Amino acid sequence: MALIVQKYGGSSVADPERIKKVAKRIVATKRRGGKVVVVVSALGDTTDRLIELAHQIASEPAEREMDVLISTGEQVSVALLAMAIHSLGARAISFTGPQVGIVTDSSHTKARILRINTNRIREELRKGKIVIVAGFQGVDINENITTLGRGGSDLTAVALAAALKANCCEIYTDVAGVYTADPRIVPRARKLSNISYDEMLELASAGAKVLHNRSVEFAKRFDIPIRVRSSFSRGEGTMVTKEHKFMEDVVVRGVTLNTDEAKVSLRGVPDKPGVAAKIFKTVADENVNIDMIIQNIGKKGKSDISFTVMKRDLKRTLAIAKKISETMGAERVDFDENIARISIVGVGMRTHSGIAARMFGALASKKINIEMISTSEIKISCIVDKKYGQKAVRVIHTKFGLGKG
Ligand code: ADP
Ligand code: ASP
Ligand code: MG
Repeated sequence: MALIVQKYGGSSVADPERIKKVAKRIVATKRRGGKVVVVVSALGDTTDRLIELAHQIASEPAEREMDVLISTGEQVSVALLAMAIHSLGARAISFTGPQVGIVTDSSHTKARILRINTNRIREELRKGKIVIVAGFQGVDINENITTLGRGGSDLTAVALAAALKANCCEIYTDVAGVYTADPRIVPRARKLSNISYDEMLELASAGAKVLHNRSVEFAKRFDIPIRVRSSFSRGEGTMVTKEHKFMEDVVVRGVTLNTDEAKVSLRGVPDKPGVAAKIFKTVADENVNIDMIIQNIGKKGKSDISFTVMKRDLKRTLAIAKKISETMGAERVDFDENIARISIVGVGMRTHSGIAARMFGALASKKINIEMISTSEIKISCIVDKKYGQKAVRVIHTKFGLGKG
């Protein structure tokens, strides 16, 4: 018998009316036959509100307690959705992540799933019930509640689909699928009917929050096709699958904007071997991920080194950078939070040349200065001033002819 995992995001269950609509859709799926597992996120912006609340109590709340707090949002959703399904005369049962044995490591607020014990879910499915699981959460081996990082309900859904060997994983959200750019920024963005795991992974990591990046990694590893579609309308949505040869015909699949990063610069660093190694090793030892790096050779044996980090790691990174800068005799440490990363992604870049030049040309045509550049096999990113971020996305989108006809 077919097994389907459906995930409904926060905006799909933002209020009682929407919860009732989602319940109808789930019941209709169940009545078509097969087994149905549903993953659901917290209502609307509940998670944001819980985080704000915590910061009104403490400037740096303990991460373990943050997880106890923010996991409550999803617990509310599963209960309400089960009640809505009951009202339609169907059978459903709700569970938290810990209750269905989603075991994670202990990295609070960004935990990784280690294993899922599917016995309880299978037992309820056998009884013919719709099983509703709270997204975004798990439990470590010491029974501490953990969460999987913002947007992590997608990961719960894909991980459950893998563990249960589901036939299909559907992600229901507030847009009709994956677009060539965020439709809120580029109204002319086009919905894609197909995208490869690698492209989706790069888009998600570069700021397209329509799917959580680790959910795509997981889907790729276990080859779980994902269908992203709207919970408000019908439509086929977008299939995220393994790469097919025809996908290389498209050079640029999408453009993204990410404003979650900040730039840190060490100025006047002695220009000698081993300096960059020391800086990056010290920062990495503190578990901070560094991304783009740029070194400018300055004058009189000194250089400037800049790199980007996530804004949430900025405070920590600055403290580390200041220490290193003192021990190395660098002049000073600067930072800039007003930056935006614009990226283009496409497997076709492997076989087409001149793509970077076209991207830079598009930015130049609007007099947008590029502060940093990085490239990988299927992605090119530029850092620009944050105030030009959206404009940059639009001009690049047009340049590559990605919009609706
Ligand atoms: P959910 O609450 O359902 O998980 P999210 O807000 O996390 O939904 O993700 C959906 C949002 O992702 C859309 O409303 C859209 O603004 C944004 N988004 C960013 N980039 C893209 C893209 N390339 N395609 C579709 N949506 C995108
Ligand atoms: N509610 C969580 C968040 O807002 C998880 C999710 O929506 O996927 O990040
Ligand atoms: Mg999301």
